[in-house]
Amino acid sequence: MDDTGYSEDELIPVSALQHTMYCHRQVALIHVEQLWADNRYTAEGQVLHQRVDLEHHESRKGHRTEYAMAIRSLRLGLIGKADVVEFEETRDGSLGLVRPVEFKRGKTKPSDIDRVQLCAQAFCLEEMLGIKIGAGQFYYLQEHRRSTVDFDEELWRHTIETIETTRQIVTSDSTPPAVYESAKCDRCSLYQICMPRAVNRGGKRVDRYVNAQVRALLKEVDE
Ligand code: SF4
Repeated sequence: MDDTGYSEDELIPVSALQHTMYCHRQVALIHVEQLWADNRYTAEGQVLHQRVDLEHHESRKGHRTEYAMAIRSLRLGLIGKADVVEFEETRDGSLGLVRPVEFKRGKTKPSDIDRVQLCAQAFCLEEMLGIKIGAGQFYYLQEHRRSTVDFDEELWRHTIETIETTRQIVTSDSTPPAVYESAKCDRCSLYQICMPRAVNRGGKRVDRYVNAQVRALLKEVDE
């Protein structure tokens, strides 16, 4: 990073922020060790995103909608795609309201896990367009309606902290040990790779052993 921000090859995906908030080990397995597995929850999310992931746009008078819009912030070192970005023109034809909209399976979550992702998208758009964005929206499949999220100071702060934590983890080149918690681990698509119960029983040495075994298996598959 220099005075102007991060370089292209230092950018981290906006999607990694959610992994960090879910579990520090998960973000390291995915973004440091390059491991991934799908389960029902991730598969459902992918099916939903296939519907909005085709890059295109729609326009009508004074209103434009971009789908799967590429976004980035060199200042914060982020890169990603926004499901939907809506642009409205003012009466004199200049850029007015800009609103990121994310499509999600499930329903509104009590934690900031989705809101941080949306706020990070807004940071990227603000830098790209030179504007301020006050709010974004979610469309949760189970709720069948849009909900609005205001980007207030508390959410900005939480988002910046999550970006910093994510960068520390993905640039540290080490994977935090597993801490088994049924509420998150039993829903985690990386459960079989992570093996949090085995790691807990045996400590870090088992952790390293399991990771080495997984890497060896993946190498065999590649060859
Ligand atoms: S199984 Fe648990 S500890 Fe392992 S990556 Fe998933 S959430 Fe984290």
